[in-house]
Amino acid sequence: MAAGVRRHRRPGPPPGESDTKSIELVEHLFADVLGGHKVFANNSKWLNFLSLRNETWRHGNLVLIGDAAHTAHFSIGSGTKLAMEDALALAACLHEQPDLDSALTAYEEERRPVVLSTQRAAQASLEWFEDIAHYVHQDPEQFAFNIVTRSRRVTHENLRLRDPEFVAGIDAWFARSQPEPVAPRPPMFHSFRLGQLELKNRIIVSAMDMYSADDGLPTDFHLVHLGSKALGGAGLVMTEMVCTSPEGRITLGCTGLYSPTRRRPGPASSTSCTPPPTPGSGSSSGTPAARAPPS
Ligand SMILES: Cc1cc2nc3c(=O)[nH]c(=O)nc-3n(C[C@H](O)[C@H](O)[C@H](O)COP(=O)(O)OP(=O)(O)OC[C@H]3O[C@@H](n4cnc5c(N)ncnc54)[C@H](O)[C@@H]3O)c2cc1C
Repeated sequence: MAAGVRRHRRPGPPPGESDTKSIELVEHLFADVLGGHKVFANNSKWLNFLSLRNETWRHGNLVLIGDAAHTAHFSIGSGTKLAMEDALALAACLHEQPDLDSALTAYEEERRPVVLSTQRAAQASLEWFEDIAHYVHQDPEQFAFNIVTRSRRVTHENLRLRDPEFVAGIDAWFARSQPEPVAPRPPMFHSFRLGQLELKNRIIVSAMDMYSADDGLPTDFHLVHLGSKALGGAGLVMTEMVCTSPEGRITLGCTGLYSPTRRRPGPASSTSCTPPPTPGSGSSSGTPAARAPPS
């Protein structure tokens, strides 16, 4: 269903599947602007987009290019470009390779990574529009920033290169929304309160199971691994999951808190996972606990 429009509960096809109903709805929504004027149809029905992925793009002397081989949601406007580039690459491979089979192999090897990357961005964009109800109530500045970065290919820094004035406006808007007066800066570098915890910035290193524990205990490896992340300046470093029973571990190398000796705080040792605070660091650490599977 179109952005922000509630689903119709009347029987029959929804407005998106019928031109007549779509027009009725648009006339109703924009009645104050239209001032009694009619809206005309252009066979522009709402469609349910199909994301097409093929395991292979060739069979014998047949080859797929463009939308027949792959689709990318039109909200990132890349389908025509991909189709044209496919055709160019295919022509070049046919010209350069000694035989048909190697030409089609080379074509697919060249194009597949490009297509996959575009499809990932297109999927993120498609989902953004599907979930638009989450964003429509945001302030215009936040909404605008979200919509232009929705495919995740454009970042804050990248956007600054394209439109520094817009990004400066976003940073100023975010700073104004903070409880204490602060100087504008990229939103991720503002502090964040999480319960009792004051994080100095919003960079969070997610938990990564490293499968390097010694019978549940973290080792020097963990100290270096997590310590380096904390020294890097992240506001919060999550340790890997800590299993509450030996059977609950995914592997024998997972950390665990499943015996009294493991729970007792010991003297500071080389395997302590809490590095001393250093100037400019100030990371916090958190630990997600993994539960034992139900017996
Ligand atoms: C609503 C919408 C908006 C879009 N907006 C954009 C955009 O802004 N920018 C962008 O880059 N891309 C956009 N796209 C995507 C773009 O249109 C397609 O990716 C592009 O047209 C694919 O080109 P193609 O040649 O592979 O396929 P098509 O353009 O679909 O061409 C295939 C042709 O084959 C014909 N055909 C099918 N079956 C047969 C048959 N059996 N015998 C003979 N002929 C046949 C079809 O009639 C058609 O003419 C949009 C797509 C949609 C649906």
